[in-house]
Amino acid sequence: MVLVYHSVRPTQLNTNTKPEMFKKHIEWLTENCEIIPLAEVPDKAKAAGGSRPRVAITFDDGFANNYERALPVLLDHGVEATFFITTGLVNGDERVAARFSRLLGIEKDDVKGLSWGQLQEMQAAGMSIGAHTVTHPNLGDLGPDDTRRELELSKLELEDRLGVAVRSFAYPFGKPKHHFTETTIGQVQETGFSLAVAVHHRGVLPGDRRFCIPRFAIAEDDIAGLSRKIHGNADGVGIWQQVAPRWLSHYVSRSHSVRGELSLIDSKEAD
Ligand SMILES: [Zn+2]
Repeated sequence: MVLVYHSVRPTQLNTNTKPEMFKKHIEWLTENCEIIPLAEVPDKAKAAGGSRPRVAITFDDGFANNYERALPVLLDHGVEATFFITTGLVNGDERVAARFSRLLGIEKDDVKGLSWGQLQEMQAAGMSIGAHTVTHPNLGDLGPDDTRRELELSKLELEDRLGVAVRSFAYPFGKPKHHFTETTIGQVQETGFSLAVAVHHRGVLPGDRRFCIPRFAIAEDDIAGLSRKIHGNADGVGIWQQVAPRWLSHYVSRSHSVRGELSLIDSKEAD
């Protein structure tokens, strides 16, 4: 099971988790689950499980509040997480800030990306850093040349700034067949990533490919909701998305959208 958070801040936003709720989540997860690094998910999905569910924690986009609000809680609980970074957001690219401002429904000035210094600190503290493109486009609609640029440039800049190999990638918006295709998956492999994650509402199955690992989006879910996702009681939506034709899965996923998790993972812009 892989979870994806986006931002952790006090104000209510789509895809946001409030700091008090985030702390409750991490407390509950450390008590009730075996938290593992994302890199171990593909192999462990094939191995027999222990008594507690295995969970990897990820964050998408690269907001400064990940450093300010999430990192201290993760460190307090000895939890390693993987942060997928939109490099244009970190570099203060105006167009990227404008895109996030539209997706989040907030003012552009309110969109604050992590700084390179914060990312270096997070990495030094034991967090893992992955790529999430330069500009956060829908790769399902992008041509192969532009896709290659988004993949290569984000990977190279992260490696250059952080001084480590960046091996994991998260597809922006993340829904299989809508936001990335088999061609995209091939390009991600060619770029030198060794693992890629989607947003697909179910747990990891032994047959899942390492370039299409499903993740559950988590926002302001209470502990009961989090527990339902962890224990597989919410898997029906994800399995249905996988087998249904595109037009139908689109309809179903919208009607089953969990409160507050839409804009960054299933936006109008992305479709
Ligand atoms: Zn994203």
